[in-house]
Amino acid sequence: MAAESKDSPAQGKLVIRNIGLALSGDVAAPVLDADTVVVIDGRIAAVGGADSVDTAGADTEIDAQGCAVCPGLIDSHCHPVFGDWTPRQNQSNWVEMNVNGGVTTLVSAGEVHLPGRPKDAEGVRALAMTAQRCFRNFRPAGAKVIAGAPVPELDFDRDFYESLAAAGIRHIGEIGLGTVAKGPDAKRVTGWCRELGIETIMHTGGPSIAGSHHVTVEDVREAAPDVISHINGGPTAVPHEGVRELVANSPAAPEVVHNGNERAALTCLAAVQEAGRLAEMLIGTDAPAGSGVQPNGMLRMVTLLASLGGLDAAQAFALATGNVARKRGLDAGFLRAGLPADIVFFDRPEGSGGRDVLEAVTLGNIPGIGMVMIDGKPRTGRSRTTPPAARVPSLA
Ligand SMILES: [Zn+2]
Repeated sequence: MAAESKDSPAQGKLVIRNIGLALSGDVAAPVLDADTVVVIDGRIAAVGGADSVDTAGADTEIDAQGCAVCPGLIDSHCHPVFGDWTPRQNQSNWVEMNVNGGVTTLVSAGEVHLPGRPKDAEGVRALAMTAQRCFRNFRPAGAKVIAGAPVPELDFDRDFYESLAAAGIRHIGEIGLGTVAKGPDAKRVTGWCRELGIETIMHTGGPSIAGSHHVTVEDVREAAPDVISHINGGPTAVPHEGVRELVANSPAAPEVVHNGNERAALTCLAAVQEAGRLAEMLIGTDAPAGSGVQPNGMLRMVTLLASLGGLDAAQAFALATGNVARKRGLDAGFLRAGLPADIVFFDRPEGSGGRDVLEAVTLGNIPGIGMVMIDGKPRTGRSRTTPPAARVPSLA
C-alpha cells in the first residue's frame, strides 16, 4: 500500500573525507573514531578511518574540511498540517527552514492546527490518512515528515483504533488535545493502542491554548503512554516536583521541547541523569506553536542542555538523533552503515569561544551548519538560519 516517495535517494558512490569529529547518535558512545563516511545509493555503507574503509571508485567526493558531522536531527514533536505551510502562524516554508537548522526528520504530534479540523471518527481518520499520505509524497527540501497522528476523542471505541492500524497509522497525536485527557479515559486508549501496535504520546501540563486540556502528573501516571510529550510543558509545565516524579516512576520516555519551559527541561535532565535514563530522553520543538516556528529550535535545545544543563555536548546531540529514532522506531538517527545518509555538517560558529564545535555548544553557542544532506543528497549549502560556520565542506 505504501506509495514510493517522489523524492528518491542519491545514486552512486559518495565518499566524505576529512571529517574533524564524527558524532554517532548513540548516547552511550557519542563520538566515533572516524574521519571518513562512504555512502552508496543514499545509504551509509561504511564509517571509519580513511585507510580502513573502501573509498575507491567514488562518483562524488565531499571534503568536510575538518567539520563535524552528526546524524540529521529528528524533531520528536511538531505540528504540521499540509504542505510547507502552517496556519498557526500563517507561515510558509517552515519545514524547509528547519532543514537549514539541521532537521532531517520531523514526527507529527497531531495535525491539530488545520482550521476547522474534524472531531468525528471518520473525519479524524480521514485527516490522519491524508496527512500521512501527503507527506510521504511531499518532502520540503528532502525532509521526512512522519505525519498522520489522529487525536483521540471520547466517543472513539476500539474499532476506531483497529481501523487506524489497518490504514497503516502507527502513532496517534497527543492524548489531551481532544476530549480524552483524564487518566482513566487515557488509560483505555493506551491499552487498546498497545494491543494494536500503535504508539501513544500524551500532552503533559497546562492547556496549550484555550479549549485544549490540562493534563496532570496523575493523568500521565495512570495512562502510561509511550512518550510523555513535553514533560517541560507545551508551554506550561507541570510543577517541577511532578517532572521529577514522572521521570523517577513512569516507564514512559520523557520528552523536552523548545516551545516549553526551559527551567523544567533542565529539571527533567537532572532527574533523568539521576535515574540513569539518558538513553530514553527525547528532544522536540512543539513547533509551530503560539511562540512561533524556530528553525534552530532543535539546535537550541541541544545547546541549552549542554550549556546550562551541563550535559556532555556530544551526548546532547544523541538526545536529538539516536534517542528519538530508537524510541519512535525510525530508519534514521545514527551514523551507522545501513541507515540513510541523513548527515549534518557543522562547525563552531565564527566568533565563538571554544576550540571546536562541542566547546562552542558547551559555552551556549549554537553551531554553524555548512551543509545538510538527506538520503545522500546535499539539500543545503551554508545554512540560511544558523550563524556562519567557521569552516564549511566542499564538493570535490
Ligand atoms: Zn501538547
